[in-house]
Amino acid sequence: MGFFSDYLHKCSNRSIKTVKINHGETYLNLKLRRASRIAINALTPNRPHHAQWLITRKCNYRCRGCNVWKEQDPKELSTQEVKRGLDILKKMGIVDIVLSGGDPLLRDDAEEIIEYSAEQFITTVYDNGSMALKKIEALRNVDFVAISIDSLDEAKHDYIKDVPGAWKRAMNTVETLKKEKINVCVTPTISQFNLYEIIDITKYFTDRKIPVWYCLYSYDQSTDANQLFRIGKCNDEFVIKNKQAMVKLCDVLIELRKNNNKILITDKVLKALRSLFSEEKRVWNCQALKNFLVIDHLGRLAGCHNQNFSTNIFDLPKMWNSKKFSSLRKTYNTCSQCNYLCYIAYSLHGSPYGNLLIAKDHWKNAKLFLSKNQ
Ligand code: SF4
Ligand code: SF4
Repeated sequence: MGFFSDYLHKCSNRSIKTVKINHGETYLNLKLRRASRIAINALTPNRPHHAQWLITRKCNYRCRGCNVWKEQDPKELSTQEVKRGLDILKKMGIVDIVLSGGDPLLRDDAEEIIEYSAEQFITTVYDNGSMALKKIEALRNVDFVAISIDSLDEAKHDYIKDVPGAWKRAMNTVETLKKEKINVCVTPTISQFNLYEIIDITKYFTDRKIPVWYCLYSYDQSTDANQLFRIGKCNDEFVIKNKQAMVKLCDVLIELRKNNNKILITDKVLKALRSLFSEEKRVWNCQALKNFLVIDHLGRLAGCHNQNFSTNIFDLPKMWNSKKFSSLRKTYNTCSQCNYLCYIAYSLHGSPYGNLLIAKDHWKNAKLFLSKNQ
């Protein structure tokens, strides 16, 4: 036990060069301060620990299972507003943050936002593979750059993204980021379309020491026009029909994980998925607005993107202990409207002990405790 203290101990024993950063503080000091603050937050109950911030509604792709590109919005919060929001999330206890969109790197100020976020949180930046090399300097201190690759077959991937050349660009991006020692990981979205390929994709990248995390194709069933953000689009080709194959996939991944620490999904999540597909049984209760929250490009905040917004990021501190939030939490706790994998993972690991399991399983790959030059 004592994952955090182990890491801090290892870190203090490493011969790490200190690097001067702008405001005169050493890079190492900053890393240690960030690490200890994150450790304290992760172990403190009754706080939100995970946030997804969809910082833009702009996208340059046209993925067949996604609504975002059809419903783009040029409006978004200013740089200063996003930074102010990040400060609030830090005070609220957020440990890790996912910056997504749209493609978050399409924002002109993406570099500034990412650097600010990476100083305070375990930060993951999503990219469809088209933008990371254009903003590479901003990604050097990020914990994970998640590149979406859905197939090892070029034609298949380009079909899913509906953009010719998408596969070549994404593969080149992964390779270049890896060479540049940037923490790149690959995130295939599991669907009926690539279900039988997931093991091959996993082995291909993890054999090259590139971690793999998964999304699960899901679509927004809510017809509520007030839902925060429409992402998943119903597409018959992608809906998983062969449930037994999905069960088998979970079993194989659980087995592979015994000797492969680059598969970034916990056994607990895999077992939950297994139950869902073998018995249609949900073994978790949703922790939306309790352990995790979602913010859109305009700063509106909800338990998840399928729900209407309940406040905005700037009012979060005064709303956190409100009656309204407590009643929403009860409703979400029994909700079974979606199977988005990240929400399942945040719900299953929604306690300080759960955070420790993620730390053991997942964050050890993060740049959190490592020097810049490793
Ligand atoms: S899945 Fe991502 S890259 Fe594809 S259209 Fe949607 S937001 Fe854009
Ligand atoms: S199960 Fe949770 S994450 Fe999914 S729609 Fe319901 S409240 Fe949102």
